[in-house]
Amino acid sequence: MKVIVIGSGFSGLSVATSLADKGYEVTILEKNSVAGGRARVFQAEGFTFDMGPSWYWMPDVFDNYFAKFNKKTSDYYDLVRLDPSYSVILEGNETINLPASIDKLGDLFESMEAGSKAKFQEFLRQAEYKYDVGINQFVWKPSTSITEFLSLKLLYDVVRLDVFQSFASHIRKFFKDEKILKMMEFPILFLGATPENTPAMYSLMNYAEMKLGTWYPMGGMFKIVEGMVKLAEEKGVKILLNQNVQKIEVIDGSAKKVITNQGEFMADVIVASADYHHVEDKLLGEEYRNYDEEYWKKRVMAPSSLLFYLGINKRIPKLLHHNLFFDEDFKVHAHEIYTAPQWPSKPLFYASAPTKTDESIAPEGCENVFLLIPVAPDLEDSEETREKYYHIIMERLEKYCGVSIRDAVVFKRSYAHSDFKADYNAFRGNAYGLANTLMQTALLKPSLKSKKVKNLFYTGQLTVPGPGVPPSLISGLVVAEEVNKAFSI
Ligand SMILES: Cc1cc2nc3c(=O)[nH]c(=O)nc-3n(C[C@H](O)[C@H](O)[C@H](O)COP(=O)(O)OP(=O)(O)OC[C@H]3O[C@@H](n4cnc5c(N)ncnc54)[C@H](O)[C@@H]3O)c2cc1C
Repeated sequence: MKVIVIGSGFSGLSVATSLADKGYEVTILEKNSVAGGRARVFQAEGFTFDMGPSWYWMPDVFDNYFAKFNKKTSDYYDLVRLDPSYSVILEGNETINLPASIDKLGDLFESMEAGSKAKFQEFLRQAEYKYDVGINQFVWKPSTSITEFLSLKLLYDVVRLDVFQSFASHIRKFFKDEKILKMMEFPILFLGATPENTPAMYSLMNYAEMKLGTWYPMGGMFKIVEGMVKLAEEKGVKILLNQNVQKIEVIDGSAKKVITNQGEFMADVIVASADYHHVEDKLLGEEYRNYDEEYWKKRVMAPSSLLFYLGINKRIPKLLHHNLFFDEDFKVHAHEIYTAPQWPSKPLFYASAPTKTDESIAPEGCENVFLLIPVAPDLEDSEETREKYYHIIMERLEKYCGVSIRDAVVFKRSYAHSDFKADYNAFRGNAYGLANTLMQTALLKPSLKSKKVKNLFYTGQLTVPGPGVPPSLISGLVVAEEVNKAFSI
């Protein structure tokens, strides 16, 4: 059985490796010149920049992935745990460094709100249960039928997971202190919706981040991609780069052929890991699409991002590896992302300086800095706008660090909506797919199976289980099982 996988992000590499392991003949067709999708890397002026993900969370998911193929994560890269995990900068540049130790974190909370250490322990106990059910059961459901969820145990779990309660009200049952609330709500932002619109089951993210820890693969996040590519090739997967897929040809209800800018490839099964909307809108005839434009118009997207990759010819004091600038009003920024989409008036932002952990990614004595401003999707991103925001956040960064930085920048590259569209065919220039709202969970996400073409499947951050590196990786494994159920060899 010949399988064509479109796209070489985490989901594409994962489905390809899993199917090759089961005996399928798998070829990945990738439009870009490097594998990895949103987690690509580039080099400039002696710096190595990870282009997308920078937070390595849920190490168990990666360990289980490699273990599935009788390998260990350490066969491919070396992980270090960050301590402090990250730094939160609040109004007036007050800084809180979050210790990796749960006990010390509890003490920190207690110093801010009496009685909160015990409440934090109770919160984490519940979050651990959710992580266990969520990551070990729910995310493995292909969500193609309601019957998958019709077991008494699962229904009981759904109730205990607080699926119908918002994260914002859940967390306020435990804590009152505004700073603690900010710290607890931070990982939820990764899910692409406000804490008010995110189901409380996602407190599993707090468990993941605080208990399981924030890690870093030495050499950079791209080491994960390199490891996954190596494993895929060991299993016999062929990865063909610079192959821009232009059409999926359907004959008699089956997808038979993939046409790229370079040639034609016959297939028995096709798995599309490129952005779902792009595949439906540009690669398939209208009669074969799962969803029409009206459906897509109603989807709530996670934010896009304005990014800056900076090479700086000196070390910057005060910055940690991960720094979250929550020094402006989150509600105003969230309103300008979700409710009234526009460029933010007072943006929160994230600054990463991975050279604090890993000096191999910059010339000696230099700092590698990555800046990210979450912004609404579909905005116009002219050079002028990008520059305006560069100066707004550099001003704050310089003030916080107490040194000039802009005059030490020897390399600078910006990246925003139009780049996401050009590089990944990203729907509305999205960075992290669909928001994880209740109405876009499990069965309510775009389906991983085509409803009209029997051998066409979808995987990646726009289908189940959702955005983020671990979910994308799991998405590939789930689809591989579905393919194998339908066409077992
Ligand atoms: C700036 C940023 C920061 C992030 N930070 C984190 C983080 O810290 N931690 C975390 O867990 N997650 C993070 N994420 C999310 C995570 O990176 C993604 O959820 C994940 O990488 C998505 O993988 P994927 O396989 O679904 O899609 P992609 O990585 O987008 O892969 C799809 C592939 O399909 C290819 N493709 C598209 N169209 C075609 C075509 N016509 N022909 C051939 N190939 C095509 C694309 O080039 C791409 O390689 C971040 C994302 C971004 C953008």
